[in-house]
Amino acid sequence: MTKVLVVDDSAFMRMAIKNILADKDYEIFEAEDGALAVEKFIECAPDIITMDITMPQYNGIDALKQIRTIDGNAKVVMISAMGQEMMVKQALVHGATAFIVKPFKHEQVLQTLAKVAST
Ligand SMILES: [Mg+2]
Repeated sequence: MTKVLVVDDSAFMRMAIKNILADKDYEIFEAEDGALAVEKFIECAPDIITMDITMPQYNGIDALKQIRTIDGNAKVVMISAMGQEMMVKQALVHGATAFIVKPFKHEQVLQTLAKVAST
């Protein structure tokens, strides 16, 4: 069972990702904000985190930095949108493992997570 922490301020997006991963070999945890993501990361020790970039207060880049400071091997897959090239560059600098661009297809999510899980 691969543990995945799904971080997004949109309940709809969290549900979309959960639905894609349903019936596969994944155990899902959720957080709706960057600060909660850090707490859940410590509490649940997920194998992979999917991290939305744009969230109120504590965004995905801040959460990525914090998580990678806690665990330099943490695997964080950033969920970015078109037009976020600056954020994507920052995420790379801070050790993001992979990127999924919204709007995404089911297969992209499954393939990316499978690849990250196998590394
Ligand atoms: Mg968002």
